[in-house]
Amino acid sequence: MELILAVVIAVVVLGVLGGLVVGGRKKKTKTLPGAPPTTPDITAPPAEPHIGDEAETPRDEPRRTIEEVDLPDATATAPVAVEEPPAAPEIEIPEPTAGRLVRLRARLSRSQNALGKGLLTLLSREHLDEDTWEEIEDTLLTADVGVQPTQELVEGLRERVRVLGTRTPEDLRGLLREELLKILVPEFDRVVHTESPLDTPGIVMVVGVNGTGKTTTTGKLARVLVADGKNVVLGAADTFRAAAADQLQTWGERVGARTVRGPEGGDPASIAFDAVKEGIEEGADVVLIDTAGRLHTKTGLMDELGKVKRVVEKHAPLDEILLVLDATTGQNGLVQARVFAEVVDITGIVLTKLDGTAKGGIVIAVQRELGVPVKLVGLGEGADDLAPFEPEAFVDALIGE
Ligand code: GDP
Repeated sequence: MELILAVVIAVVVLGVLGGLVVGGRKKKTKTLPGAPPTTPDITAPPAEPHIGDEAETPRDEPRRTIEEVDLPDATATAPVAVEEPPAAPEIEIPEPTAGRLVRLRARLSRSQNALGKGLLTLLSREHLDEDTWEEIEDTLLTADVGVQPTQELVEGLRERVRVLGTRTPEDLRGLLREELLKILVPEFDRVVHTESPLDTPGIVMVVGVNGTGKTTTTGKLARVLVADGKNVVLGAADTFRAAAADQLQTWGERVGARTVRGPEGGDPASIAFDAVKEGIEEGADVVLIDTAGRLHTKTGLMDELGKVKRVVEKHAPLDEILLVLDATTGQNGLVQARVFAEVVDITGIVLTKLDGTAKGGIVIAVQRELGVPVKLVGLGEGADDLAPFEPEAFVDALIGE
């Protein structure tokens, strides 16, 4: 009797346990309400992943590879259940640089109205008397063209208008175009030199007063170089302005360029040194160094930039020193340009914020002041709003083609 009771209890216990296991299995293979039992619906919201999901596809159904899965309609808004790889920073493909100035020509509209249209209107007066020539001179001076270039342009125009006799609007536009081009010195070498003659990366140092758009320009230039297929390392040697290194790093990350940085307030020269060293080790094509532009004293600036230059040149020669100037600061910008030119050998000028000024003539004045070409112009805050400076496209933008 006892034996029979024990056997009955054992059978009941086993039965309950078996039921639990089967129930558990059933739970695992249960399909989600509304979901088709076999093929996965990749337009459905992603389900919480849990162990045993594979069991949802019956073994006798052929498994679909990722290529065979129907892609959702591009217009469908439902999230896709295909697992994304971990979010890598998205690398942008910068716009090619060719023709940027032509694309951005409308940004010069303020200079166009004040300078180009102003001059053309004056030149089309019936009588070009002394007063009119004076007005032409004033228009050029107001647009920051500078005294010497203004005189040259007016003399050239007066002579050619006299020789020409009759003047049609086309004649005048042609004459003005040629005379403006002449004072823009089209024969200057405007290439931004980023190729080292040695087996080291090209090294470009960017200098200028804080606030002129120096860090932004360094970031935009990195994009230009990446667009040209170069491998770029950035040196955040502006340790004076708190956010500058973060700002530069963000620009770099957008195009996959690494930023070498140091502690805030650290020694700019040691960061520049490390950036070039790491650029060489990594086999980078170009190292771009952003510097601090404190105009505290000329000696201070000279010491700081001089030291950066010296330590960089322990590794490799500098190929380009670009001075960034804010076009909206007019004569003040020219004073800054003079100070920087005394401290380092500027090889090219970047004029930023040309989109925000009616005084586009500053391009002419600053080249004349330093005897160094404007190589790049900033025409907006957008990432690809830095354009190679082309005198012909610039003049066409001012006076219309
Ligand atoms: P930094 O102190 O010289 O490094 O100056 P930043 O690079 O921080 O630039 C100062 C401000 O100028 C920022 O708001 C930039 O977006 C703006 N900026 C720079 N270049 C241009 C330009 O070409 N056009 C316009 N409109 N703004 C610019």
